[in-house]
This record gives sequence, structure tokens and C-alpha cells, in this order.
Amino acid sequence: MIRRMFDWLFPRCCYICRTEISPDAMFCAKCFSELVFIDSPICSRCGKLLPTPNSLEEYQICVDCSVNDKIHFDAGRALLLYNDLSRRIIFQIKKRADIGATRTCVRMLVIRFGPIVGNADLIIPVPSHWTQNLIRGYNPPSIIANELSKLLGIQVDNSLKRIRKTESQSNKTIAERIENVNSAFSYQGRLTGQRILLVDDVRTTGATLNECARILKLTGASFITCITIATTSIKDTKI
Ligand SMILES: [Zn+2]
Ligand SMILES: [Zn+2]
Repeated sequence: MIRRMFDWLFPRCCYICRTEISPDAMFCAKCFSELVFIDSPICSRCGKLLPTPNSLEEYQICVDCSVNDKIHFDAGRALLLYNDLSRRIIFQIKKRADIGATRTCVRMLVIRFGPIVGNADLIIPVPSHWTQNLIRGYNPPSIIANELSKLLGIQVDNSLKRIRKTESQSNKTIAERIENVNSAFSYQGRLTGQRILLVDDVRTTGATLNECARILKLTGASFITCITIATTSIKDTKI
């Protein structure tokens, strides 16, 4: 009775188009059918969608990964292609700290990539600078990391810090993005032999995740998997 009254007073809306939906759903049928899930064929290294399978082999590498010797993480996986629809979900997570939207995406991530994300020792969110955390009141990747932690039973480690305030990566070239985050992070401690899930909301060029992975590898991390809710396509950006 109370639940029915609550549903009547606060009808659930689709996280993308805000139309009213049934209390058990997260998206309307139309939006859900239009979301682009990252499915095979994907690059085994960065996890981006391959335009076409390179071969019948299970282990396939995109052109970018095959020529780039400065990739410090070992695997990358994302749930959704970053487009107008997924951008609205990311907005809910990033700007509104929406736990419902985060939980839904994280559940889908774990269902999709369970064997890859489930065998980590620690979950580490990409940090914001402390001044941003103070203004916003939270760090969006930490919200995702905490939900992942609850589902997987893996501890969150918040020791990775952004020690330098960086400019937004938007409207920057790949070279400028790499320069912008260079030496912006630090980790106090050792991660010798640890397998890490490095968590962010969106991956575009991967420059931020790659710089974090570089720092974590310097502390001894053995295997780093980058997890994001969404990622751009290979043709949009390069690592
Ligand atoms: Zn909708
Ligand atoms: Zn790749």
C-alpha cells in the first residue's frame, strides 16, 4: 500500500527521456532499444568496438592498440557507446550523483564483463582534484566504484590522488590531453602484484586512464583493467 502510494506520488521516469515508466524499469522500451551496448567484436586490449572482426581468433587487437606502445593498462571494458543517449545517463551519474542510474549501469557491466571485472584485488576510481570534490561534494567515478564494490565484494582504494588541478579534456587534441594529465596523479603506497579495476565514467581518448595506469604500474600493480560506463568509438578518438 505504502509502495503503491509512493509510486503514485513519485512516478519513475526513464533515465534518458524522462517519460513515465513502470516502477520496476529504468529506461522506457524505446530508449533501451536505442542504446548501443559494446558487444563483440571488441578489441581485446582497449575494449572498443571493432569495425569488423580482424579474424576468427578470439584475441583481436584494434589498429590503434597494435601500433601504440605507450598503453599502460592491460584491458579496457565499457558498457555503452558514448552517444546522445548514453550522454544523458552519464549526466545523471556525473551531475546528479544518481545512485539508481549508476546501480543499473554497474549491474549491466558486471553481467556483461563478470569474469574480467570479478577477479580484481582492488577497485580504484579516477580521482578529481580535492577542490572539485569540495565544490561538487562527490567524485563521480567513486560513485561507480562504490556500486561495483558492493556487487563484486572487492574493496575500494582511494589512495590515488589528483595532485595537480587539470583543465577539462574537452576540445583538446590527443597530444594536448596527454600533456594536460601528465604527472597529475600520485599514489602513496605499494600495489605489488595487485590486479586493479580502474574506474571512470567515460573514456574518450583514454589519456587520463592511461596516465593513472602508468602511476599504478610504477607502484607495482600487475594487471590493470579500465572500466567505464561509456566509451567513444575507435573512429572518434585514438588512445
Ligand atoms: Zn526513454
Ligand atoms: Zn584497442
